[in-house]
Amino acid sequence: MFHSADYVDFLKNVTPDKAQEYGKQLTRFNVGRSGGDCPLFDGLFEFCQLYTGGSIDGARKLMSGSCDIAVNWAGGLHHAKKSEASGFCYTNDIVLSILELLKFFPRVLYIDIDVHHGDGVEEAFYVTDRVMTVSFHKFGDMFFPGTGDIWDKGSGAGEYYAVNFPLKDGIDDESYERVFQPVIQKVMEMFRPSAIVLQCGADSLANDRLGCFNLTIKGHGQCVSFVKSFGIPTLVLGGGGYNIRSVARCWVYETALLLGADIDDNIPYNDYWQYFQPDHKLHFPKQNMENNNDKEYLEKLKIKVFENLRCLNGAPSVQMQEVPPTYYVSEEELEETMNPDERVKPCKAQKGGEFFNDDADQGMENGH
Ligand SMILES: [Zn+2]
Repeated sequence: MFHSADYVDFLKNVTPDKAQEYGKQLTRFNVGRSGGDCPLFDGLFEFCQLYTGGSIDGARKLMSGSCDIAVNWAGGLHHAKKSEASGFCYTNDIVLSILELLKFFPRVLYIDIDVHHGDGVEEAFYVTDRVMTVSFHKFGDMFFPGTGDIWDKGSGAGEYYAVNFPLKDGIDDESYERVFQPVIQKVMEMFRPSAIVLQCGADSLANDRLGCFNLTIKGHGQCVSFVKSFGIPTLVLGGGGYNIRSVARCWVYETALLLGADIDDNIPYNDYWQYFQPDHKLHFPKQNMENNNDKEYLEKLKIKVFENLRCLNGAPSVQMQEVPPTYYVSEEELEETMNPDERVKPCKAQKGGEFFNDDADQGMENGH
């Protein structure tokens, strides 16, 4: 649906033992290159199937209405390209689950709070108005992947449907909230998404080995709570995070937020007890580091983003089209259906009013 057939074949067949015979393809697909960040390892394809399958399954659960929030912390690998691995990402589970959601939902909003730009997702949907991508990330100083400037706003039918908020080192909870909430509020009003995919990369936390932001778990979680408050079907995914103690804490806390459950600051005794020494607390304070994002800088960027959002002519409608079959069957239906041939069934009827006949081309670069 998104990746090129030769790239998928390569991922399926390559192993460390066969690296010699795949020399040229390793370079072409950016896998296993010395000094690269996409190593070749045993079980690579199964790893891709697991994290990608989890995200697609989450999308299908939202489509079937069997849940209103689906979570896959193993997913969120936002850098993978159509024919290339990038930044620890091999297959792009986010693009694939958004393509799945588009079979049912007219408009999908993608929000990315990883410290890195969500380049693979933005690129896949750069020319369509059915997906809006919004990424908050560190930009400048040759920081990976180098894309995501304020001026990159989509093109063709997708013009103004890519939103980038480039940030500098040391942003703290207060500054982040000051830009995240008004921008997302405005995006909701202008784009009116029918489903949301939220990438919760934890490398935007303080103390990350690759990141350079200064968010606490509470500040990071505040973004998750804010998105949840809109009550729109949401697929919540993981992403980066290079301090495993912080990543585990962050996604536990955010799972609790999504469930609306209180969670104690004292970590209960568990098999990983020694990792959380010395205090065994869930939360940690921000670091003592300078915030290079002053109020004036953030305000200027926010105004620019708002100007771009005002260029949207209301939420776009979607032309009538045949809905491809979804292969999702709920667990209850699975029990009822004994004949496996009967398990494949077309997707639920489209929501009334959102789809209508229109000659305008709403095509996607990598869509069906
Ligand atoms: Zn990242």
